Amino acid sequence: MSETVLEIHLPKLRHNYQFLRKRLASTTKLLAVVKAFGYGSDAVAVAKCLAACGADYFGVAYVQEGMALRNAGITQPILVMHPQQQNLEALIKHKLEPAIYNHRIFDAFLATLKATETTHYPIHLKFNTGLNRLGFQPNQTNQLLDLLDQNKNLLQLKGVYSHLAASDDLDEEAFTQAQLEQFDTIVQAIKPIFPDTIFHVLNTSGVLNHAAAQYDMVRTGISLYGYGNDSAVDAQLKPVLTLKTVISQLHSLQKGDSLGYSRAFVAKEKTRTATLPLGHADGIGRIYGNGNGYVWIHGQKAPIIGNVCMDMIMVDVTNIACSEGDEVIVIGENESAEALANHAGTISYEFITGLSQRIPRKTISELL
Ligand SMILES: *Cc1c(COP(=O)(O)O)cnc(C)c1O
Repeated sequence: MSETVLEIHLPKLRHNYQFLRKRLASTTKLLAVVKAFGYGSDAVAVAKCLAACGADYFGVAYVQEGMALRNAGITQPILVMHPQQQNLEALIKHKLEPAIYNHRIFDAFLATLKATETTHYPIHLKFNTGLNRLGFQPNQTNQLLDLLDQNKNLLQLKGVYSHLAASDDLDEEAFTQAQLEQFDTIVQAIKPIFPDTIFHVLNTSGVLNHAAAQYDMVRTGISLYGYGNDSAVDAQLKPVLTLKTVISQLHSLQKGDSLGYSRAFVAKEKTRTATLPLGHADGIGRIYGNGNGYVWIHGQKAPIIGNVCMDMIMVDVTNIACSEGDEVIVIGENESAEALANHAGTISYEFITGLSQRIPRKTISELL
C-alpha cells in the first residue's frame, strides 16, 4: 500500500542540467542553487547528483543549509547568500563562502576571521543594482576596494555578484538592462585589480533571456528542478518532482450536504468526493481550497473542494471512476506545479518549496 510520497527523479535533474549547460559558454561556471531543501526536494540528493554532472558551485541561503551539504560530503565551493552574524564561525569551520552584503556583516566577518586566526578566506561581495533587497550600493565600490586592500591577509575576493529583479519579465527589459549596466560598471572597476574574481549576475530567467551577461558564472535554481518561468522553456525541461498520494476514503454527498470545516462546500447536486492524506501541514496551502487547486486521478482533473484541512484535502471525483486506495498525482512530469500554482494565483517556487518535511522523499535513480 502506498502513501503520500515526493519522488525526486534524478535523470530529469540531469536532463535539466544539460539543457542549461548547452546554453552557456564552456568556460562559464554553473552554481546550482539548492537552498530551501533543494527547492523543497532533497538538497543532499540533488547536490550529489549535480556534483556528479559537473556543477562547479552550490548556493544556499543560510549557513545551516551549507553545513548540511558539507556534512553529507559535498566538496564543491558553497556560496551562502544570506549569512547571519551569529553563524559566521560555523561558516568558517565548514569552509562555506559568505556573501558580504553590508558593512555590518563585513565587520562581523573580519572580527570572526581574527578571532579564529583565519587568513585569506574566500568571500563574495554582493551589490544592490535595483532589487533593493541585499547588497552594497555601486557607489561604495571604491570604499570596498580600499577595505579589501587593508585586509588582504584576511580576505580573498573570490566573487562579486548582483541579482536581477525582473529577468523573467520582458516588459521590464529596460530595467534589467540598467541593472546589467550598473553591474558591468562594478565589474570594470574591480576586474583590473582582481582578475581572478568570479563575476556572476544571472539566475534562471537571466540565463534564458540575457545569456550575454553570463560573465564567469550563473546561479540557477528553478530550471534545474524543471520550471523555466516560460512555457516554451518549460516544454524543454523535465519537472523533477512528482508528488503522489492515495484516496483514503470516498463519500457520496446528496444535494445540500456540506463538506469539511466551516461547511465551505455545499453540494448543489449528488457529488462524489475523495479524501486524500495531504493538507496544509504538508504544503497544500489554504489558497488551493475551494476550487483553486486540483489533483489528477487516472489522468483526470479532480478539483479540491471545501477548505484545505491540516492533514487532508477533499476532491470532487463525481465524474471520475476511482476506488479507495487508487493513486493520486498532485504534481508530476505532465501535471505541472507551475500551472497548479498559477491557477491559485501563486508561482511554482512557492508550491515546491512549501512541501513540508513531513512528506517522505524518495529518490528515483532510473528513468521511469
Ligand atoms: C534563489 C536565488 C537564485 C536562483 O534563482 P532561480 O530563479 O531559481 O534560478 C539566484 N540568485 C540569488 C541571489 C537567489 O536568491
